[in-house]
Amino acid sequence: MRHVRVGPFDFAILSDPETDRELLADGDAGASDALRLTIKVRSDLPAPVRHETLVHEVLHCILSVTPYTAELSDVEEERLVRTLAPFLTELDFLAHYRDDE
Ligand SMILES: [Zn+2]
Repeated sequence: MRHVRVGPFDFAILSDPETDRELLADGDAGASDALRLTIKVRSDLPAPVRHETLVHEVLHCILSVTPYTAELSDVEEERLVRTLAPFLTELDFLAHYRDDE
């Protein structure tokens, strides 16, 4: 199982047919649970969509351990995450930049 590190926590990434069925039932591409340390991403979506969904859910997890979690309404948090996620997804160019050094 894949994991992603968010601050001091390792989140398990669940992405399989059973997860797909759960997310589809809720109409979601992804979901995160900061208490259970799980991030769910639909496995049946194109790779670029899966990547953006993972960044989106990681942002929710990051916010959950910051003071913003108490300050933002669910709608405000979703707006912030949807604003940042597409641009942060593109930052994987930094991995290539580091490889070139
Ligand atoms: Zn969201």
